[in-house]
Amino acid sequence: MSSKTVLITGASRGIGKAIALEFAKKSYNIIINCSSSFKELLEVAEEIKALGTNCLPIMADVSDFHAVTNMFQEIEVVFPFIDCVVNNAGISHVGLFTETTPETWNKVISTNLTSLYNVCYHAVPKMIHHHSGSIINISSIWGVCGASLEVAYSASKSGIHGFTQALAKELGPSHIRVNAIACGAIDTRMNNWLDDEEKKAFEASISLNRFGKTSEVAELAYYLASDNSSYLTGQIIKLDGGIV
Ligand code: NAP
Repeated sequence: MSSKTVLITGASRGIGKAIALEFAKKSYNIIINCSSSFKELLEVAEEIKALGTNCLPIMADVSDFHAVTNMFQEIEVVFPFIDCVVNNAGISHVGLFTETTPETWNKVISTNLTSLYNVCYHAVPKMIHHHSGSIINISSIWGVCGASLEVAYSASKSGIHGFTQALAKELGPSHIRVNAIACGAIDTRMNNWLDDEEKKAFEASISLNRFGKTSEVAELAYYLASDNSSYLTGQIIKLDGGIV
């Protein structure tokens, strides 16, 4: 077994999958998770194993504290220590604020924000004990500047920024780094609701005139886990192609 292990939530597709493959190329042991698309998760696990590294796929709804407790019990049997956690699982909701029901509000906040508490609550004690670790939270530029029709989503991502900065201060003395990547528009299924015309208009508002690639997020996530970023913590790094 290689020496380092990473847990990536929401890794059955999109950004999480790309991050898992990037860490696999660097010979990490990989734990991947999702809440419902198990067939896709197993396919990602096969791709990872084909790269010659270990992979543990686990189904768990990370918005549910008890499901995360069970997930960590399963993980501990195979990998006693997690060096890096990537909190990536997330959902979007596009709609008028006045039509956002309590159910939708709670689902977005619990999936995108409470999940970070659920996962870190279980991962951090061992990191403190080992005096090492890296936590990477996948956020959004809408958490920096807010998006019309995405109040719940923007609020959940702003919450990630406060969580990241506060936890980084608390865990710095234990040599645990905590950072967030605030993505702009990345080419994944999450943006499928845009039609061709809307996508073109969106691209025109980006300095680099294109959506980001999942591999570009993955490379930054790996950098944040590596010793090359050993003095970087508490940062919200915008990866957005220069949205104007
Ligand atoms: P995606 O393609 O829809 O993938 C989302 C992943 O999260 C899937 O693996 C999904 O699997 C999993 N997931 C959703 N709810 C979950 C839950 N409760 N528990 C465990 N896993 C769950 O989305 P993406 O574009 O890759 O987005 C990944 C992250 O990047 C999200 O946090 C998103 O907010 C952020 N982001 C994306 C963009 C963008 O433009 N794409 C921009 C800014 C930020 P299941 O459905 O099987 O659970």
